[in-house]
Amino acid sequence: MKHKTGNSDLIKRINISNIIDILKTQGMKSRAELAILTGLTPASITKSTKKLIDLDILLESGTGKISGGRPPILLDINKNAGYILGIYLAPTKIKGILTSIKGEIISEETYILEKKDKSYILNLLFTLIKILIKTSKNKRILGIGIALNGMVDYDRGISIFSPHYHWKDFNLKKVIEEEFDIPTIIDNDVRAMALGTHHQGVGINESNFIIINIGEGIGAGIILNNKLYRGENYSAGEIGHVIVEKNSSHLCSCGNHGCLEALIGSKRVIEEIKIKIKTPNFYNEYFSLQKFYKSVNLKEPKSLKILEDISENLGYTLSFLVNLFNPKVIIIVGEINNSKNIFYDLLEAKVKKYALNSSTRNLNIIPSQLKGVDAATIGATILVYQNLFNGRKILEV
Ligand SMILES: [Zn+2]
Repeated sequence: MKHKTGNSDLIKRINISNIIDILKTQGMKSRAELAILTGLTPASITKSTKKLIDLDILLESGTGKISGGRPPILLDINKNAGYILGIYLAPTKIKGILTSIKGEIISEETYILEKKDKSYILNLLFTLIKILIKTSKNKRILGIGIALNGMVDYDRGISIFSPHYHWKDFNLKKVIEEEFDIPTIIDNDVRAMALGTHHQGVGINESNFIIINIGEGIGAGIILNNKLYRGENYSAGEIGHVIVEKNSSHLCSCGNHGCLEALIGSKRVIEEIKIKIKTPNFYNEYFSLQKFYKSVNLKEPKSLKILEDISENLGYTLSFLVNLFNPKVIIIVGEINNSKNIFYDLLEAKVKKYALNSSTRNLNIIPSQLKGVDAATIGATILVYQNLFNGRKILEV
């Protein structure tokens, strides 16, 4: 039977995350101010903040000023509350950060994946976690957040399917919690990038935005009314598998043919370059996508044509999202950002061509200022404080 998270649980998670976010970004606040800023009732603020104080995450810290009456007590984040680990299990590397609850990065660690077998990846992951924990100098670790490529059951911490690691129905949460006895929360990488970008990136002031990650895989993270939308089976945002070319010969990692990922994913782009740019000097052992984007910036016609084809297929697919969700901003993550304005001009024209005028009127398509890997690790730490009351270890406090 499928585990379901009740609505009240979800609301609780969002409330806690809101309270912590406000104190993180705006400093000390009274309960009354928090009620106004979060839109929650004073009773629910009192209840949530009491829990956070009991967990040593918030402190009562001084008093505020009012004209007449009893001055209100101000709440602040206890900077010694503990640390959070945020980890990105990316297709070709793993990166982890250790942050304070206020989000300051204390230490970080990155490994390149030389192999893809499960025991190798898990060994490397355990080593990374151990090294990061060591840098915490024995402070409490509140939780481990993991952004994982592929489909993820967020509520149970299961990798439903990872095409890059060849994992299927693998309970990663259980494996990590058994090894480290620290509450662990896992989500899809692009969904985590959306959270990271909403808390620390260009999406910080945006209530409705979509982030698109373009790499070997292609996916979207959707923030609607300030909340991450995951969908019924955690697959909201899988735009890489929208079939753009019917009866296509291009096989996708999902098994279908003609998906967006099969047409513009980095593997396919590299193949296109091989076929269309035959100059031996250009395509040699030192070839990289970066070099390709450099040639785009030099307006090399063959390179421009490849970029235009990418923009055509991407713009066509994005027009579905734009008509469906009417976001204010679309944020792009990936090496394609190296082609700067040339790409954005092309893409904007394509989206406008295919989407409704009323949906594109105030639409902005912009590059992410955070790199995908950083947005994902920051997002992974957000997963932890959104779930502070759900971890079994913390519940016992
Ligand atoms: Zn596909």
